[in-house]
Amino acid sequence: WSSGNFSWTKKLEANNKKVFGNHSFRPNQREVINATMSGYDVFVLMPTGGGKSLTYQANIPAAYLSANMEWTEQQEIFRELASDYCKYKLLYVTPEKVAKSDVLVRHLGSLHSRELLARIVIDEAHCVSQWGHDFRPDYQGLGILKQKFPNTPVLALTATATASVKEDVVQALGLVNCIVFRQSFNRSNLYSVIPKTKKCLDDIDKFIKENHYDECGIIYCLSRMDCEKAAEKLQECGHKAAFYHGTMELSQRAFVQNQWSKDEINIICATVAFGMDVRFVIHHSLPKSIEGYHQECGRAGRDGQRSSCVLYYSYSDFIRVKHMISQGVIEQSPFTSRKNGVNAMNSGGILETNTENLLRMVSYCENDVDCRRLLQLIHFGEKFDSAACKKTCDNCLKVKSFVDKDVTEMAKHLVELVKLTGGQHSSSHILEVYRGSLSQIVKKHKHEIIRLHGAGKHLAKGEASRILRYLVTEDILVEEVRKSDVYGSVSSVLKVNQSKAYDLCSGRRTIVLRLTLLPAFFLKLQNW
Ligand code: ADP
Ligand code: ZN
Repeated sequence: WSSGNFSWTKKLEANNKKVFGNHSFRPNQREVINATMSGYDVFVLMPTGGGKSLTYQANIPAAYLSANMEWTEQQEIFRELASDYCKYKLLYVTPEKVAKSDVLVRHLGSLHSRELLARIVIDEAHCVSQWGHDFRPDYQGLGILKQKFPNTPVLALTATATASVKEDVVQALGLVNCIVFRQSFNRSNLYSVIPKTKKCLDDIDKFIKENHYDECGIIYCLSRMDCEKAAEKLQECGHKAAFYHGTMELSQRAFVQNQWSKDEINIICATVAFGMDVRFVIHHSLPKSIEGYHQECGRAGRDGQRSSCVLYYSYSDFIRVKHMISQGVIEQSPFTSRKNGVNAMNSGGILETNTENLLRMVSYCENDVDCRRLLQLIHFGEKFDSAACKKTCDNCLKVKSFVDKDVTEMAKHLVELVKLTGGQHSSSHILEVYRGSLSQIVKKHKHEIIRLHGAGKHLAKGEASRILRYLVTEDILVEEVRKSDVYGSVSSVLKVNQSKAYDLCSGRRTIVLRLTLLPAFFLKLQNW
């Protein structure tokens, strides 16, 4: 399908340049177009941002129909569809509309009999499948299209489908001899997660100078203020940097984009997606979901050249992001959770989904053992053998020395300590009490006399906090924000999620953590 020997090839290449301003096609774009133009049913699995829309839409007259439009407006469109000189080349409809509107289906029939129905495109096709993460019953009604118009090619596209979801979609839509284009979500980027300190911006400056001097990059920041600060700091350090955020006027954004295209700047500190291809992507704070992270990183290395994706992670950023999500301060994630096939529509709601997505992101960052690619790809239902990473992520690069440690007792103690202290204290306070601190603040609350004070004194601080954070990512302990200030810093207290803690406390659940052996640990062993 990649060959250039079709009657439309010349026009296709020309339009890619003229209409879209692209130099070339992305992987599978040309193939998908050739297959659908040849009249086949086609199923496309392509990551978000991969360029699906180019395969079916261009700068051409289009209209849309949805159920909440005025009836007169709808009739206007129907009239146009019925006319011999219909000006629309593309009609967008919601699946609800197809399922419920006989009028629409009749009009499609009329277009079909006049040989004007060239193709049916179904975007977000995974919604057809009950096995998918985002099942929508109305999508199943789309099967009617192939029944009524068996000879009209269908192009089904999605960014998330396991093999069984794909089968389900093909069945439900009635696709025949369908050609499948499946693209791996794996990218050749170098992934790493680095502990975030107060000198994060200095670290970023150094990282860029050492690895990507004068190359293009995006730095994703959490807030507008962070963005502006980062840009200012990088300018001081001699980089051609600018900021770019959601609250900027369109004209301001256009100005920045113009500077970028003239090469006057090559580093963008952004809160929102910046649509340019780059050599490195840095996350100055925690992304909101693995899907979002994967997509943002996808801006790097589109040309196949080695590119870096560095994430600066701190647990306190997690609490900050969590707070922002609950306040609706940051845009709601368009991504739904894949875990157990639940989503915002049929589980607890958008807030729970966003929080769950954030917790998965935290556990990605907390994990210092497993291959980063593997951790990302399991979210997209893709199998991956971490040997294929070939040490292109920080975890694979590490000398692998770790132990699987049963930490059930310690986990129980931590949960119990949170209960004993009344769910009123921060995670760092709980860790202090657990490790037997006699600090003023511990004494002030009389926590040195509490049962389990010092129960974890044999543990290294890092190890104890790793266990505690694991309990948070499993939703057994919950960080609840108490206070926040205008500078965006928040303080929080730990609570026990009784229903999730039950299995652990009643002895039905064991917790085994894979812990990396740090150099300090080896030193201790040698001294022994
Ligand atoms: P998807 O629908 O797969 O999420 P889009 O169709 O929205 O992705 O495309 C993502 C971005 O990639 C858009 O900004 C688009 O302009 C750009 N893009 C698509 N195809 C190409 C190409 N061949 N070359 C350069 N940019 C492209
Ligand atoms: Zn790896």
